[in-house]
This record gives sequence, structure tokens and C-alpha cells, in this order.
Amino acid sequence: MATANTPDFNKPLYAPLAEIDPEVKNIIDKEVWRQFTGLELIASENLTSRATMEANGSILTNKYSEGLPNARYYGGNEYIDELEILCRKRALQAFNLDPAKWGVNVQPYSGSTANFAALTALIQPNDRLMGLGLPDGGHLTHGYYTAKKKMTASSIYFQSFPYSITPETNLIDYEGLASQAKIFKPRLIICGASAYPRDWDYANLKKTATKEGAWLMADIAHTSGLVAAQELNSPFEYCDVVTTTTHKTLRGPRAGLIFFRKDLENAKDLEKRVNDAVFPACQGGPHNNTIAAVATSLLQASQPSFRAYAKQVISNARTLASTLIEHGYKLQTGGTDNHLILWDLRPIGLTGSKVEKVCDLMGITINKNAVSGDASAQVPGGIRLGTSALTSRDMREEDIKVVAGFLHRAVQISLVLQKEAGSKLLKDFVRVATTQEEGKEGYKQVKQLRDEVRAFATKWPLPGVDVATLTKPEGILED
Ligand SMILES: *Cc1c(COP(=O)(O)O)cnc(C)c1O
Repeated sequence: MATANTPDFNKPLYAPLAEIDPEVKNIIDKEVWRQFTGLELIASENLTSRATMEANGSILTNKYSEGLPNARYYGGNEYIDELEILCRKRALQAFNLDPAKWGVNVQPYSGSTANFAALTALIQPNDRLMGLGLPDGGHLTHGYYTAKKKMTASSIYFQSFPYSITPETNLIDYEGLASQAKIFKPRLIICGASAYPRDWDYANLKKTATKEGAWLMADIAHTSGLVAAQELNSPFEYCDVVTTTTHKTLRGPRAGLIFFRKDLENAKDLEKRVNDAVFPACQGGPHNNTIAAVATSLLQASQPSFRAYAKQVISNARTLASTLIEHGYKLQTGGTDNHLILWDLRPIGLTGSKVEKVCDLMGITINKNAVSGDASAQVPGGIRLGTSALTSRDMREEDIKVVAGFLHRAVQISLVLQKEAGSKLLKDFVRVATTQEEGKEGYKQVKQLRDEVRAFATKWPLPGVDVATLTKPEGILED
């Protein structure tokens, strides 16, 4: 609270957000409403806990702490040191790692910066690396480039050569990778993906890495929650470095982690290389409010309840897959081992963009995604769906079947709209989806399904929000 002596120039420090900045407050309220009234199926998203959000919104945001615990550039870090040490301990515990064999840096701001710091630690500028190609499910930061442009720092500062999935099975082409690595001689092989529904054979990758004298790094950004819950193969058995985001299946705040081996005979200095790469090479002061939130979410991820959550996420993804297959649709690899599925829409003559658009109009949030064999990267032929967030809203198999039914109808409506659009252009498709034209049915069907989705979605709770008292904020375009 301000005191009687607080000067006018400091009075704004004490007023609540709603009073200081109703504009931003209203935007937040609208986003809460969107999350409450919609169905979140973006595979990279999740709903973090109330406790995590409390830590993330804390006063720790005020503190500078460049450096590492007990070796900072600034004073006043006794509690920040305690926090960072606790966060590291919990990170190792959450992934069942022996502190004698593994260390972790908890300062990365996000997955992309964690990856760039890891590359900086492991290899030199212009060295060669191999990662799964973006159209095959890999991530931008694993060396992505196009014919015209080096798109990411991982291809600007390093030479990159992507490996791929096998066209027939759509599984990682481990043999192809091995024979390409023999010729290309990468210094680093990166595994892990953003759109790959199956598990990884880390032992196989390790064989190739050892043979060619390359580092092996796993980026488990998407699946780390499922790895922590021991529902998927562990990359820690075979990899030298493991990076992850903390906000996808791990269900924490937006941040990144870098795990590194401490027991390598030929790289005793790996710990120092990783730490120096994060700071000062790639980042400045750590975001201590985020580190507190990461620590809290890691505590939660270490509980038996989190393992039950992870099992449910996978079971829900499998149910979503099998229900869509029962409706006659094609999924890449025919199913899933993890939290996500890739739905190939080409057999029914739709693009990912159109279905994404229709779903958006109904409050079903998904993303268009490349599927194996797409003719053009500009027109992705599929969509990616994940069950992490819906599972965090308490949904189980029977509820996921209802969601699969909505998706089925959304796709059928898309076919109607495509016919009524009179052309294959997205803009004509959007026009008939959003305006009532004489004698056309698609628009009405969109509205009907949207109402059903909303009625279903608002039956579920939303972590961190008291939905019983939630009211529709100003500025929501809903009729
Ligand atoms: C999401 C993702 C990242 C990037 O994470 P950001 O937090 O968005 O920077 C990195 N790698 C993979 C495999 C991802 O899926």
C-alpha cells in the first residue's frame, strides 16, 4: 500500500491492473473467456497450474542475477541462489537423474534459446549438424533452411543437413540417417520433433553418433512430461545433452532447460561449456519469476498424480486417433505413441488451412501441419492435434470421443463450405463460412456446431480461474 507520504509519481505503483490499465486487463479477460469457452487441441500447448502462475507473477521479476548460484555479478542473491539450486534439484528428480551423472541449467528463457545455447556449447560456427527436417516433423531450431534462405540461427551459423522419415511408414529413417551421416560427418545429431506421433530409438541414434564421432542431443520439448512420467523411452540413457521446453506436456511456465552429462571421459568440461553458452554467450539475466514457476511445476511433475495425468494424455490421444480412424480418416503412421496425432486431410480433398479456419470459427483450436508427401510447403495437407490441454481440463476417453465427433463434423462442414465457395481459394472458403449467402447451408452449420462446442467446453473447469464466477467480458464478438 502507498503511504500518506508516497509522492504522486509513485502512486501508480500501488493500483491494481484493472485501474491502471483497463485495456490490457480487458484483453486478458477476453483471453480467459476464449480458453474457457473453447477446446484447446494445439499439441504444443497445455494449461499450467494456479501455483505455477502465482510463482510466475511474483515479485522475483525485480531481481537481476547474472551468473550462477554463489557466483553472481550482483549482490542480494541469497534467496535467488536458493531458488535456482532448488529448481535444478527438482529438474533432476523429475527426470529420475543421478546428480553424479547429470547436471542441468535452468536459465534458458525458452526452448529455442535453450537449443541455440546447446549448439553454442557443443559445436563451433560452421560445423555440421543433422536434425529431422521441418516438413517431416522437426523443429525450426534443428537446422531449418529453404532453397532461398537460411531461416534460423541453426542454419545461419552452422551447416545443416536434414534427415527424414521413410515415405512408406512415415517413421524416422534411421538407416538413411546413418548412411548420410557417414558421408556428411556431422559434429552433432539432434533428435526430437514437434510433429512426430511415435517414440524414438535412441540406442540406434547413439550407434550412429558414436560411429561418426558426433554429439547426440535430444530435444524433448514436446514430450518431456511423458518422458518424466516414464511413459516414453528415456533419451538420458544415450544422449550427451537433452533440451526441453517446460510448457508443453511438462505443464509448467514458458521456459527451457538444458541437461548435460557430467560423466563423459572425453568432455569433462561439458558443464562449463553449457553454463557459459547460456550466459554470457546467448542470454543475459535469468528470469527468476519464471525459474520459481519452473521449480513449482517440476515439483508437481514429480508427484504420482502427474504420472496418472501423463497416462491419461496418451490414452486420450489414442482414443482420439482410433475414433477418427473409425470415421474413415487417415492418420500419419496410423496412430500415436504420445500426446499428438497428425491427421492427413488430402484423401478427402481438404487442406489444413481450411479446416484450421473452420475450427477457429467454432472455438476448436488446432493448427495446420505438413503431412508426409505434401506437394507444397505453402499448402499443408494436414492438421496436428494434441490432448495435453483437454486432459488438464479433466477430460477422459468418453469425452474425447465427443471432441472427435465435433472434429468429424467440422471436417464434413468444411467439405460443404468448399463446395459452396465456388472456388478452391481460401478467401472464398472464408467468405461462405462467415457470411450467410442465399440458399447456402455451410454458414448455418458452422454456427450450430459452434454453439454445441461452446456448451460442451463451458462444462469444464480451467486451472487458475474460478469459472463459477466468470462473466463474459466486454468486446467478445459472440451472438
Ligand atoms: C516448441 C519447440 C521448441 C521451441 O520452444 P519455444 O519455447 O517456442 O522457443 C524447440 N524444439 C521443439 C522440438 C519444439 O517443439
